[in-house]
Amino acid sequence: MTDRYAVIGNPIAHSKSPQIHAAFAKQTNQDISYEAVLAPLDGFEATVRELIKQGYKGANVTVPFKFEAYDACHQHTERAFVAGAVNTLSFNGGHIAGDNTDGVGLVNDIKDNLKHALGDARILLLGAGGAAQGVLLPLLNALPASITIANRTLEKAQRIAKKSSSATIVSANTFEALQGQFDVIINATSAGLSDSALPISNSIFAKSCLAYDMMYGRETPFMAQAKTAGAQVADGLGMLVEQAAEAFYIWRNVRPQTAPVIKLLRSA
Ligand code: NDP
Repeated sequence: MTDRYAVIGNPIAHSKSPQIHAAFAKQTNQDISYEAVLAPLDGFEATVRELIKQGYKGANVTVPFKFEAYDACHQHTERAFVAGAVNTLSFNGGHIAGDNTDGVGLVNDIKDNLKHALGDARILLLGAGGAAQGVLLPLLNALPASITIANRTLEKAQRIAKKSSSATIVSANTFEALQGQFDVIINATSAGLSDSALPISNSIFAKSCLAYDMMYGRETPFMAQAKTAGAQVADGLGMLVEQAAEAFYIWRNVRPQTAPVIKLLRSA
């Protein structure tokens, strides 16, 4: 019997996840189906209950439901707990287990695909929303020298920094007050969606800096600025495929190869 999975979001038509999981299934000979499911904005829980009733084995969760997904779970992994958000649900009867694969997806993309070291790096994380919160623990696990979280609303950055147990290497700041240089700068804001530039100086990009924008599909003002400042620039497509690979591994206990799938999406 084919095992069924889905990605739940609103909107969801744009999602590349069905294409990614179909490619993983083909590559690893796994008999699964995976579809995009649009949940009403006030109907996330009902949608999950319906999928469980229909015998689905699991689901990915995307905007705007990652926090509701956290609340719907009976059990969380440590990385989901620290993130306070869930993007991968596993169903076992009525029991729902939640994980968050966004952070490990980002770290794997930076280390394995982009070949950029995170150990001992001075990392700057721009933004303090769900995505920033989700990647903090996996970034800390990569043993950087420091992580500075900068956000338009300083209190949110301070709250996340405080929540982390590695208080000595994690700090919070505004964009305008940033000083010094960074080896890895990750844009986890959604400023690119409205083509807005961030009030950061070109001087913060260290020599051989990796500038990573979690957005994908087009060049953001952050990416354009980083290019001008001489940084190596990457978008979030690799992260998208890597977080999906981790979810696939959780569900199927098989690790798919990501490089051919990233290549496939880039050429599409
Ligand atoms: P949230 O809505 O939770 O957070 C948005 C963040 O962006 C906040 O820190 C907000 O600041 C900041 N922000 C928004 N607009 C501006 C602006 N004009 N100038 C400065 N800061 C701004 O979103 P998420 O954290 O869920 O997502 C952030 C981005 O990451 C999105 O673009 C999303 O697509 C991407 N993403 C990519 C993934 C991938 O697999 N590649 C996975 C997950 C996310 P403030 O707190 O002040 O409002």
